[in-house]
Amino acid sequence: MSLEKVKQALSTVKYPGFSRDIVSFGLVRSVEFEDGKAKVSIAVSTSDSSIPPAIRDGVETALKAVPEVTDAEVSVVMSGKKPAGPSAPQGASPEGGIPGVKHVIAVASGKGGVGKSTFAVNLACAFAEILKADGKTAGIMDCDIYGPSVPLMMGLSGRPYVEGESLIPMEGNGLKVMSMGFLVDEDTPVVWRGPMVMKTIQQFSQNVKWGEIEILVVDLPPGTGDAQLSLVQTIPLSGAVLVTTPQPAATQVAKRGARMLEKTNVKILGVAENMSYLEQPDGTRVNIFGEGGGQQTANDLKTDFLGQIPLDQSIREGGDAGKPIVVAEPDSKIAQSFKTIARDILSRI
Ligand code: ADP
Repeated sequence: MSLEKVKQALSTVKYPGFSRDIVSFGLVRSVEFEDGKAKVSIAVSTSDSSIPPAIRDGVETALKAVPEVTDAEVSVVMSGKKPAGPSAPQGASPEGGIPGVKHVIAVASGKGGVGKSTFAVNLACAFAEILKADGKTAGIMDCDIYGPSVPLMMGLSGRPYVEGESLIPMEGNGLKVMSMGFLVDEDTPVVWRGPMVMKTIQQFSQNVKWGEIEILVVDLPPGTGDAQLSLVQTIPLSGAVLVTTPQPAATQVAKRGARMLEKTNVKILGVAENMSYLEQPDGTRVNIFGEGGGQQTANDLKTDFLGQIPLDQSIREGGDAGKPIVVAEPDSKIAQSFKTIARDILSRI
C-alpha cells in the first residue's frame, strides 16, 4: 500500500521545464519501500548538469511529504552513457538501443508544415540507395502522432503483421517502415494520442523486428513539447537533423526545437532548409519563402548547414503518389541534393 503511495508521490515530480512528470516520461528505474525507507533509482539522459540535482531535490521533497516515509535514498544516474567495464556481448544492442539497429537519427522541426516528413522520407530513401552498394539497409520510424503522413508518402496502408509479441515492419521503396499511422485509427481524437506516445514508442523500439538496419530515420512530431522529449529520452539517438524553411522568422522556431534537443544528450548533426526557392523554367530562382533562414539557424546553433531543397511540384507529387522523388526520379538534381545531404550525415555519425 505504502509502495503505491511512494509511486504516487513520484508521479507529482515534474521534469524540470516540462509539464510532464518523471514517471510518465519513463525515467524511474526502480522503487523499493521497506520499514519506512524508500529507495528510488532514476535514469536521465541529458547534457544539462542542473537536471539530475533538480530531479533529486524534487523527488526528496515529494517523498518527505509521504507520512510513511521516514528515510529516503534517491539516486539519479545518467543513462545513455555506457558504464565502464567489459563491453557488451557480440550481437547485443547498446544499452537502451533498438535491437539490430546501428544508428538512429531524428528529423525534427520547430513547427508543422515545413516539410519535415517529406524531408525525412526522402533522406531515408537516399540512405537506402547509398547503403545498398554495401548490402546494408535503412528504415524509417514515423512517430508523428498528430499527422502520420509517412504511410501515404511511402504508398503503404493496412496493419503490420504480428509475430508472437513482435510487429513486423512494412516495406516499401527499399525501406523498412513503421508508423503510428498503421496503428492509430484516423478517427482517434488527437487528445488520446498524446498519452499513447510513450507506450507506442517503447513498442516501436523494443517489439518491432527491424532486422539488421544500418540507419533508422525517426520522423519526430512537430514542435518542442513533452511528446518530443519523451521520444528523445526513449530512443538513443546518434543525432538529429533540424528542418526549417528559409524565412528568417522560422529561425526562432527552429531554435526552440534545438533547445529541446539540447535538454537531452542529442547531438545536432546540422540544419537543412526546405522550400528554399522555386526554380523558373529559365533557371532563375524565386525566393517565395524568403531566404537565409537555414544558414542563419545553423550559425546561431553553431552547427553545420547541410543544404537546400527547393520548392518543387515533383516533390509534392512524389509524396502524394507514394514514390518519393529520390526513388521516382533518382537522377534529378533534387534527388542528388538529398543524396549529398545523406552522405554528409553518414560521414558525421
Ligand atoms: P511537415 O511534416 O513539416 O508537417 P510535410 O512533409 O507533411 O510537412 O509537407 C507538407 C506538404 O508540403 C506536403 O503536401 C508535401 O508534399 C509538401 N512539400 C514539402 N516539401 C516540399 C517541397 N520542397 N516542394 C513541394 N512541396 C513540398
